[in-house]
Parts: sequence; C-alpha cells; structure tokens
Amino acid sequence: MKETIYTIPVTEAFSVDCECPMCLLEKDCEEKSVEYFLGPSLMEPDVRIETNKKGFCKRHYELMYIKKANQLGLGLMIDTHLCEKNALLNKVYAKYGGKSKKETQASLLKRMTSKSNSTEVLVDNLINEIDSILASCIICEKINYTMDKFIDVILYLYFHETDFQKIFQSKKGFCLKHLRMLLEGGKKHLNTRQLAVFTENLMTMELENLNRIQEEVNWFTKKFDYKNKDKPWGNSKDSLSRAIEKITGYCKLV
Ligand SMILES: [Zn+2]
Ligand SMILES: [Zn+2]
Repeated sequence: MKETIYTIPVTEAFSVDCECPMCLLEKDCEEKSVEYFLGPSLMEPDVRIETNKKGFCKRHYELMYIKKANQLGLGLMIDTHLCEKNALLNKVYAKYGGKSKKETQASLLKRMTSKSNSTEVLVDNLINEIDSILASCIICEKINYTMDKFIDVILYLYFHETDFQKIFQSKKGFCLKHLRMLLEGGKKHLNTRQLAVFTENLMTMELENLNRIQEEVNWFTKKFDYKNKDKPWGNSKDSLSRAIEKITGYCKLV
C-alpha cells in the first residue's frame, strides 16, 4: 500500500501492551506537533499566517507553555495572533454597536436601544467570533488529519494482513474517544460486509475490556474495606488512572 509512512507507527503502537494503541499514536503526534510549532517553523511566513488565523486550544497553549522550550517563539506567535483577532473583534464591535469618534455616549446608548434588538445582534456576533477563536486550534487540526490517516491504514491492514488482524484482536480494546473514531472510520472506509465483521469483532473485544476495567476499579474500591486489607491488589492498584484514560483518552495523570 502507498501510505507506508503511516504503516510503521501503526504496527509499532499495536505491538505495545496498553489500554489503547491509538492513544500512543495520538500522543506521539501531539508531541511532534508541539515541537514543530515551537521550532524553526514559527519563523516561516506560511506557518505564521496559519497560526495567526487559527491559534491554539487551551490544552495546546498549556502544553507549549509548560514545555518552556521557546518562550520567545510562543510570544511571537501569540503577539501576531492577538493582533489579528483583536482587529476582528474591533471590527465586529464597530460594525454593530461601536461608538464612532463623533458620537457621544448618550447618542450611542440611544441608538443601541432604539433600533430593535441592536445590542442583541452585537452580542450574538461577538459570541460567534469568540466561539470560533476558542474552537480553533492548528495542532488539533493536524492531529485530526493524522489520526484520520492512521485509521485508514488500520482498517486497510485489518482486511489485508491476517497477522495484523490477529494482533488487533489480541489488544485490550480502545479508549472511548478512539473507539468512536474507529467506528466512524469503519463507516467511512469499509463496505457493508466489512463494516459488519469489523464492528462485531471490535465491540466484542471492547465490551469485554470495559467490563474488565470496571471490575478492576471495583476491586480498587473494595480494597479500602479493612476486611480486604491483606488481600492482593491484582491489577487494581493503577486501575483508576487506566479507567479514566479508557473513558477520555490519554491525559496527564502522572
Ligand atoms: Zn485512545
Ligand atoms: Zn488543540
């Protein structure tokens, strides 16, 4: 198959014993993306046009800030991103409700309250602008694009490489976030027969493992009972963090 650059990371991630191989793929992609945007790329005009326009989400601002790898670079990106977004907010404000130079506060108030719903239109437009700033992240976009490619490869290998299908079925399932991605990918890339086979195999494995992790957490809670104090932990000692990641996808718990 042609997309070999995605095949090697997929087979590597599926060779690791973990709660979700796709979390490993996503984590790796995220780390590389953070390094990329904090690296020399941020001085490239094309990249800066994109970061100015899209900015980053809360998670990715946090990761870039905490990394402390390039505070100047991060500052440069935020500076020009804010310039662009401030101008946009000013424009929306000026268009729907802003005070012109000649206008007094009193006449502005009169205008805003006399026109039907004028302030409401302004508020709605401001909310829309703010929503689009908050929803947009160039790293999330890059990750989504790459995860889409990985899913394409996983589904291809599943139906063309018997060994890969065996390895896939021997895993401990996926986190709910990536289970959803796989189901959605199946709908997009597979024919009706393949989708039926894949969904049945995937869900049998997934439900068994969701059950297993629930039982592990259950034993974790029972260990707090003095009667069970001396009984073995089994797999339950780290079950809380694994269960949280099974639900939400990988997060920074340790
Ligand atoms: Zn996952
Ligand atoms: Zn993001």
